[in-house]
Amino acid sequence: MRTDKNYSFIFHQDALKQALPTIKEVQGLKEDASIDLKTPTNDSATKLRHYYGCLLGLAVGDALGTTLEFKQPGTFKPIKDIVGGGPFKLLPGQWTDDTSMALCLAESLIESKGFNPKDQLEKYLKWYEEGYLSSTGKCFDIGNTTISALLEFKETQQPYCSSPNSTPSNGSLMRLAPIPMLYHNAPVEAIEKAKQSSLTTHGAKESIDACRYLAGLIVGAIDGVSKDELLSDHYAPAKDIWEKDPLIDTVDKIASGSFKHKEPPYIRGTGLAVESLEAALWAFYKASSFAEGALLAVNLGDDADTTGAIYGQLAGAFYGVEGIPTEWLNKLCKKDLIESLALEIYKTTFSENNNLN
Ligand SMILES: [Mg+2]
Repeated sequence: MRTDKNYSFIFHQDALKQALPTIKEVQGLKEDASIDLKTPTNDSATKLRHYYGCLLGLAVGDALGTTLEFKQPGTFKPIKDIVGGGPFKLLPGQWTDDTSMALCLAESLIESKGFNPKDQLEKYLKWYEEGYLSSTGKCFDIGNTTISALLEFKETQQPYCSSPNSTPSNGSLMRLAPIPMLYHNAPVEAIEKAKQSSLTTHGAKESIDACRYLAGLIVGAIDGVSKDELLSDHYAPAKDIWEKDPLIDTVDKIASGSFKHKEPPYIRGTGLAVESLEAALWAFYKASSFAEGALLAVNLGDDADTTGAIYGQLAGAFYGVEGIPTEWLNKLCKKDLIESLALEIYKTTFSENNNLN
């Protein structure tokens, strides 16, 4: 159940929409369309399309992939649509822990006007214990690394209690989108906050650096950087980032384009941060549309929902919401809530008095 506080939050979103385009307007926006934005430029409208695409793309990839979660590659008929089912027997359009945690993170960033790790963990715990921001009303799946961190936080109230020796899994990568969205205007900060975000639950260096690298790519994608440039050797949205604070070897190989020279079974969408990032980038590299890449990503099987969520946040940021098939968006559970959170992050990022924590 949502609290009164959150009902008022949603009401506030509705008020904001009066000054900003709805998602339908954004989807149908033509280059010369004039929309009553607070900053009435086509550039603003373009950015907003990428913000919507980033968060909705994450959820679409998750909802698409849940059907094939835990299935071994080659043991199933590839899917072409959001059909639900899978290990959690979800309805078409319902999504899993990836999206729930991303929405908790988004809401925390908005309400805290920036990065508040204790608040983030309290929301994650509320999801785990009460099904808050879940697609079914319950938390029905949670990674082992995440649950260890949440239980430790519950006992100690320490926000960064995940060990560097924890499993280098993809639980912080799958929910990352709200971080590069909020800190989009400060790329170095976006990458530092991606690290901090991972540290709340996933302290392994591979998990952290996978988040740092993906955050840089999403910042660039929102800015309209071309795919060739995004996937060029060690793309960074600001100068010398990887020289000053190098990526761990396994992530560094991905940043140098490892996914361009591999195919399955050497590309694997497993629960490891490095492998799932490489798989998502392989799909993004090979495809020429959001849908084509999303299907490549989830049809790898294994941790298909998370490969889909990682792919979806980057590809959604890149293609914009208009690149995501409308029939997939229309199936998406709690689409309006996801849309309103993306809009509010956008508003927070581009507000005149933006003093983010
Ligand atoms: Mg999941």
